[in-house]
Amino acid sequence: MELSYWEKTSAYANYDVIIVGSGIVGLSTSIFLKKINPDLNVCVVDRGHIPTGASTKNAGFACFGSLSELIDDEQSMQPNEVIELVEKRWRGLQLLKQLVNKDTIEYENNGGYELFTEQDELLYRNCLDRMDFYNSELNKIIGENVYSEYEGAAKHFGFNNVSHVIYNDYEAQLNPVLLIKELSSHASSLGVTLLNGLNVDAIQKLKNGVEVICNDNLIIKGRIATVCTNGFAEKLLPNLNVEAHRAQVLITYPVPQHKLKGVFHYDKGYYYFRNIGERILIGGARNADFDKEQTDSFGITDTIQNKLESLLKETIIPGIPFTVDQRWSGIMG
Ligand SMILES: Cc1cc2nc3c(=O)[nH]c(=O)nc-3n(C[C@H](O)[C@H](O)[C@H](O)COP(=O)(O)OP(=O)(O)OC[C@H]3O[C@@H](n4cnc5c(N)ncnc54)[C@H](O)[C@@H]3O)c2cc1C
Repeated sequence: MELSYWEKTSAYANYDVIIVGSGIVGLSTSIFLKKINPDLNVCVVDRGHIPTGASTKNAGFACFGSLSELIDDEQSMQPNEVIELVEKRWRGLQLLKQLVNKDTIEYENNGGYELFTEQDELLYRNCLDRMDFYNSELNKIIGENVYSEYEGAAKHFGFNNVSHVIYNDYEAQLNPVLLIKELSSHASSLGVTLLNGLNVDAIQKLKNGVEVICNDNLIIKGRIATVCTNGFAEKLLPNLNVEAHRAQVLITYPVPQHKLKGVFHYDKGYYYFRNIGERILIGGARNADFDKEQTDSFGITDTIQNKLESLLKETIIPGIPFTVDQRWSGIMG
């Protein structure tokens, strides 16, 4: 199909910035570019009708790191780098809250909990040893101590085989699709053009700009392009060395007997669960099958789904019957 003059010049050309990927990062990038310079002509291109990566598939935790996750990060980073990373996450969350209406995205500050089973005693002791350090460093950023022991929590929530819980008052939960909708309408209101259903196959640098080549040989022309495709980034930028990892999730039908309220972490962040009203969402278990989960293909597997169901059945809501309603996966970099 031939493009009209209008389409060619006003829909697919003359952009100052072409952003590929309309997840949280792509949309936020467009919003902040327009805030810095409202005259910029910005478009965001995504292959999906809605973003199709991680931003609409995730668990909706507004979190910045459980204590054991931070200690685990110390294996590959210096403690000051871990603090810098947490600070970025924290400041990112504050910026996000300024951009969108908290009520519209079902943002609830119900706190976060990290569970330690009897087998995790050593890990728990390590967390206690490092708690003062992280509390004092994060106090400089957040203004309060973040982590505290909550010895009555296991009984309160009805967990089985959980000996200790660490509480974080600053974690919250939200509805990720409502967040994306809010960011999209914010971007549109600032004059950002949102182009959906276009897969970007390549980006070509020209002398005086770029050509973003999409399916059906459609070409979008602009001055610069920015790639916000997360787990799929290597496809457009092969030298970037971004590994794609799949994360699987399940959600139950309403389980009226459960007492969960908030966001919960287990096993150094590899497992996470939360309530959504009377339902329970649980995800993770990537460490049960690292090799298979290192992929950019969506899909669910028995190995991971069985792990999630077992944790739910044996530890989280022991003795309470539940039925799984939906299972899905997302891809992250
Ligand atoms: C199951 C799961 C649970 C998670 N839970 C949480 C959580 O509770 N809290 C939290 O903070 N984080 C969570 N995360 C991580 C979080 O979702 C991501 O860090 C975040 O969404 C990344 O946003 P993004 O914009 O970088 O990427 P994405 O949302 O992945 O966006 C990338 C976009 O690029 C598009 N795209 C890719 N390739 C192309 C192409 N060639 N052409 C055009 N478009 C393309 C995709 O369609 C996609 O919309 C979770 C992730 C997963 C997968």
